[in-house]
Amino acid sequence: MNLYYKSTRNSELRVTASEAILKGLAPDGGLFVPEEMPVLDVPMEELKGMTYQETAYAVMKQFLTDFTESELKNCIAKAYDPKFDTEEIAPLAKVDDIYYLELFHGATIAFKDMALSILPHLMTTSAKKNHVENKIVILTATSGDTGKAALAGFADVEGTRIIVFYPKNGVSKVQELQMVTQKGNNVDVVAIHGNFDDAQSGVKAIFEDKEFAAELAQSGYQFSSANSINIGRLVPQVVYYVYAYAKLLENEEIADGEEINVVVPTGNFGNILAAYYAKQMGVPIAKLVCASNENKVLFDFFQTGTYDKNREFVLTSSPSMDILISSNLERLIYLIAGEDSVKTKELMEALSGSGSYTITEEMRAKLADFAAGYASEDETAGQIRAVCEKTGYVMDTHTAVASYVCGQYRSKTEDQRKCVVASTASPYKFVKSVMTAIDEKYVPADEFELLKELQDTSGIAMPHAIEEILHAKILHTLECDSDKMKEIVKGLCISC
Ligand SMILES: *Cc1c(COP(=O)(O)O)cnc(C)c1O
Repeated sequence: MNLYYKSTRNSELRVTASEAILKGLAPDGGLFVPEEMPVLDVPMEELKGMTYQETAYAVMKQFLTDFTESELKNCIAKAYDPKFDTEEIAPLAKVDDIYYLELFHGATIAFKDMALSILPHLMTTSAKKNHVENKIVILTATSGDTGKAALAGFADVEGTRIIVFYPKNGVSKVQELQMVTQKGNNVDVVAIHGNFDDAQSGVKAIFEDKEFAAELAQSGYQFSSANSINIGRLVPQVVYYVYAYAKLLENEEIADGEEINVVVPTGNFGNILAAYYAKQMGVPIAKLVCASNENKVLFDFFQTGTYDKNREFVLTSSPSMDILISSNLERLIYLIAGEDSVKTKELMEALSGSGSYTITEEMRAKLADFAAGYASEDETAGQIRAVCEKTGYVMDTHTAVASYVCGQYRSKTEDQRKCVVASTASPYKFVKSVMTAIDEKYVPADEFELLKELQDTSGIAMPHAIEEILHAKILHTLECDSDKMKEIVKGLCISC
């Protein structure tokens, strides 16, 4: 059976999975959603014994029905290979009575690798299937994590080129070094004189420039985007929730059919939406607990039914969740609006206009599967310290937000179902915040000095991704003003 995708803002539009992956966003500004949610057609009994790669095939084949078996298996094999530092790809760590689903064992030690290591292969396969002859140019503006994960994913992938823009003084030392040392003959990294918003606006303006697109097409290039609204990023994220459930069963941590809860540290709402898709496919997940940091726009939304981005933006120690517009929420809104694209469009236009919208009571009633909580900066640091002192397990700041919210949810509701917490980054990636949470004496220390301290405290060997950047050569030194990004892209593409 073929599964097609439609836009959340226009139910009449109908595209294949490969077309949706190539386009990223629907032409009307909506997001692509499956016309029908597939139901897992492999029994848990079978999934139990499967490797990550086998599970990925079992799940993804139901979403990407226009890919052949060999195309999809080939993409999976290229993505989930020894770039990951464990054969399990996404291992579960049991700490006290919580299961941490560690999604940070890929090339850049954060969860974005789970999707960005396969997206380039899904994209080039989609291009071939749709007879696209042009080279695909990925343009990305990054506040740190996405840029490096996209660089690592697209590096040396034939038929692609990637250009990443980051704010010169707006990323951490580790993050900057990770990007400017990236190898590959199709990658470029450019520092912008400006902040993340300037970089993002610049990329958006290039995407919308039709004349420029025509000019580049003549040289054999077309733009695409690797951002988290692409279904080529969402679908691979459904896999690890199916895998986690099957592993809990295999390890006899849960009984057949036993319901679990999932707690997800949330920013753009992609990761938790993937968990919701897994539930809809038939995985026995009871509650999806959405965990926010002090930018708690989602917590307020679940609490009140009003989404309101008109508020102060807070810089926190979990920067990948410092987001006021959670783009993937639109897919949930569409579902709870009874797949009404007119209603969805109306709400999203209100968001881009006045910055807020309120859902109906009827829609709110359909959110019963979700719960929400948030952690302040102090609570986040306190959680890292408390869990480390009690168990020796050291987690990063994003995971700590979810871990805190997990405890809060349990004591508030007396819901004692077993909990899986999505663990989205290695503590090494946010070493400064993690070590100062554990001991205030590290406040004045340099980020790099703390790597060794973290190794001693956690007993986790320094990841390859970190060792590498300590000695790597700096390969990218391009800088530009934020109003010169188009010229830079032109120069890079026409010359290559
Ligand atoms: C991107 C990211 C998140 C947020 O995930 P969303 O899918 O955007 O909700 C959480 N933690 C880390 C470390 C991330 O990189």
